[in-house]
Amino acid sequence: MTDDILISARDLTVGYQIGKGIFNKTILNAVNGVSLDIERGSFFGLVGESGSGKTTLGRALLKAAPITGGHARYADGEVDYDLSTLDGAALKDYRKRAQLIFQDPYAALSPRMTVRDIIAEPLEVMGLTKGRAETDERVREIAAKCRLNLEHLRRFPHAFSGGQRQRISIARALVAGPQFIVADESVAALDVSIQADVLNLLKQLQADLGLTFLFISHDLSVVAHTCDHVAVMYLGRLVETAPTRKLFAAPRHPYTKALFSAIPSLDPDDRGSAQKLTGEIPSPLNQPSGCKFHTRCPNAIDRCRSEEPSLENTGDGHSVSCHRWRELLEAVPA
Ligand code: ADP
Ligand code: MG
Repeated sequence: MTDDILISARDLTVGYQIGKGIFNKTILNAVNGVSLDIERGSFFGLVGESGSGKTTLGRALLKAAPITGGHARYADGEVDYDLSTLDGAALKDYRKRAQLIFQDPYAALSPRMTVRDIIAEPLEVMGLTKGRAETDERVREIAAKCRLNLEHLRRFPHAFSGGQRQRISIARALVAGPQFIVADESVAALDVSIQADVLNLLKQLQADLGLTFLFISHDLSVVAHTCDHVAVMYLGRLVETAPTRKLFAAPRHPYTKALFSAIPSLDPDDRGSAQKLTGEIPSPLNQPSGCKFHTRCPNAIDRCRSEEPSLENTGDGHSVSCHRWRELLEAVPA
């Protein structure tokens, strides 16, 4: 691993035990053999339909979901942690370095705490400051960076709009000085006009504080404007990853193409040639044979039903997991 990779996963599998009781040990693999590298200082997008395993992957990288196979590693130049085995003091330390920004700014904030106390709580829980004055100073500093009015620190969250609440959540996530942020659908609950504000703030904070983001979204148009690199997830696997520009100019996986064709303004060939997605994502408990996408893929052939493709590097940082990507590329009319 080179110095500029902050997070790397190799064959990462996350399994939830869903059977209750000692005789039913059914495991649901929400993430299945994922490998990825997130460069330090990047804004890395993770997209896919609901149920594809995005939240679970993000949580596993925060050591908040059970890693049941493979490895994940965090290395920021100061520490180097194997997340599969991390515990004790090192895990406590990791909680300072890696943080989650929640999806729903209405549910995430305790209605009985002032904004100041909400933002200060991680500092107090982790014992990062000595005394109230230092805590207050740190809270004011991060609140200002998140463009919160300092007069508002004494108020309760119900007094605020969705966008302001999301900025409070962001301040809380950043107050302990993390390096790595998982932003899980962080603008999905906001009005479109407010989304742009919050995205701009996240980008600004990334630049000012040198942060690395895993930005999870089901919305490709949001990812297009924010992320440097995108990974597309389907049923617990990565099916395509590429620098954003490349992915948007020439998506290679039929699933990625189908996601694009659902958004006319983003459809790269705008010919309506790609098939729209039909049907639903299968349950992780009842996974198709071969390529997991074959049950919904307009291009599936026998091989796709029997043999699972692996994520193949096609050059220039673009990887795709499809037996037919090359063939389908040639089939596109000039
Ligand atoms: P996404 O964020 O892409 O919508 P999730 O990671 O939330 O996907 O879910 C992936 C799969 O894992 C889904 O089938 C979901 O039902 C299942 N799942 C998520 N969390 C749990 C859990 N705590 N226990 C059992 N199954 C879960
Ligand atoms: Mg989710």
